[in-house]
Amino acid sequence: MPSRLINVKCENCKAEIQLDEETVTLKRMLGKKIECPMCRNIRIAKNLEISARMFSGEYEEEIDFEELRKRLNAKEVQSIF
Ligand SMILES: [Zn+2]
Repeated sequence: MPSRLINVKCENCKAEIQLDEETVTLKRMLGKKIECPMCRNIRIAKNLEISARMFSGEYEEEIDFEELRKRLNAKEVQSIF
């Protein structure tokens, strides 16, 4: 059964997009957002970046480094050298 394309709005950027009716019905049933391919790609890219950072431990290092920088004031840096 060929599914027909229907006009829907991206819930993120409000762009008018065409999706097949089946996909839209399924997404709504699952409580998923209707989004255009651009928003979808951005979301996936962000998720990948976050999980990659967490996996490599880079996320933690970044936070620690920020904390260290906050704690070190100019005087302390001078006394070290
Ligand atoms: Zn969008």
